[in-house]
Amino acid sequence: MKMRLELFLLVTAAICAAGKPLSKAEGRNKLLLISFDGFRWDYDQDVDTPNLDQLAVDGVKATYITPPMLTMTSPSHFTTITGRWVEDHEVVHNMMFNTKTNQKVPHKQTLTRSEWWDNGALPLWITAQNQGLKTASFFFPGGGANYSGQAVDRVLVEMPGHLDDNETEWRQNIDTVMSWFTEEDFNLVTLYYGEPDNVGHAKGPDHPDRKAIIRQIDRTIGYLREAIDRHHLTDTLNVIITSDHGMTTVKKRPLVDEIILNKYLNLIKLASFEILDYGGFGILTPRPGKEQEVFDALSNAPNLTVYKKNEMPESFHLGKSKRLPPIVIVADLGFNLNSRFIVYVNKGDHGFHNGEMDMKTIFRAFGPDFKTNFLSEPFDSIHIYPLMCKLLQIEPAPHNGSLAVTEKMLLHSGGSQRAQVSVALLLLLMFAVL
Ligand SMILES: [Zn+2]
Repeated sequence: MKMRLELFLLVTAAICAAGKPLSKAEGRNKLLLISFDGFRWDYDQDVDTPNLDQLAVDGVKATYITPPMLTMTSPSHFTTITGRWVEDHEVVHNMMFNTKTNQKVPHKQTLTRSEWWDNGALPLWITAQNQGLKTASFFFPGGGANYSGQAVDRVLVEMPGHLDDNETEWRQNIDTVMSWFTEEDFNLVTLYYGEPDNVGHAKGPDHPDRKAIIRQIDRTIGYLREAIDRHHLTDTLNVIITSDHGMTTVKKRPLVDEIILNKYLNLIKLASFEILDYGGFGILTPRPGKEQEVFDALSNAPNLTVYKKNEMPESFHLGKSKRLPPIVIVADLGFNLNSRFIVYVNKGDHGFHNGEMDMKTIFRAFGPDFKTNFLSEPFDSIHIYPLMCKLLQIEPAPHNGSLAVTEKMLLHSGGSQRAQVSVALLLLLMFAVL
């Protein structure tokens, strides 16, 4: 009888222990988020990429993921890091602009302008820091701004003129990030590379140089995995590799008639503000009383779709934006929006409808919390945010993502499931003994 009582107490204690949730700090792994700008979802399919292939075996691969509208660098990256649609985070363009003063700030300079980024949607860095974590941004868009006066703990911002394709620097940046994790105990680092976007724009997605840069990225991923091993981070570091949008070949004469918007409406007379000549996506503010005239004129233009901001499809998640001008133009795939002349020399571009396969991008993940050999269904990039919060064991800020979409790729969706199994086994044991 005494022995039975002892056993009963032991089992009861074990059940209590199993049912107890893991303490916050216990079992929390680190997270590295890497973005390769403009990595179209299928760029690895016509190039030999042994390291990317191995990642799919050792971790998680999504067939592709869908970026938000707008398929542009800053808007899309900020959706990934906030889990908010563009209409909510309001980073509606790569360039900071003011429709009243006609001021336009180039992309690289916009990266440090807090007034462009800080609109109430808190990026993951800040939310994690407010819960006691240490975070860093290495060139990641949005990392260079302050949010309600709060900066990211460690920030490196890409300077104008920075060369994006230096493989030696790519490796040095990985070494730097590894030392942040091991020597300074950072919990979250976001690391950004400007390729293959540059090559995609300059040479087009089908050019041999694009394939060469994918091989370079593949070698870099091989280097990353060696570095993780060398720094003994294999069992404690989760890695997500993704991107902001795809890339498509720009259609040019004599193949097509390029779009010149001034052929359909007098831009000077009808518009007070415009950002055109910027890939497949354009915005403009009609002069007072001219909105319908602008809309009608553009409705007659071929190879594009014109939207009034407040009548855009719900799926764009742009209509609520206060910043976006009243008229939004999305060109058909491969058509650039030229305003008056064809000054645009890009051979590849993005900014087109996110339903187009050429705008889809990549998602890979590996590390202690991820399943291996797991092929995920395609999903919207907005769902990466709750996944990252789950991995870091932090309370997410309000967001538009859904953990249910991305949680399937995790080995154990939290400690609770394991605890339940333990309780069940112990109860079984208890009944068997008693
Ligand atoms: Zn680009």
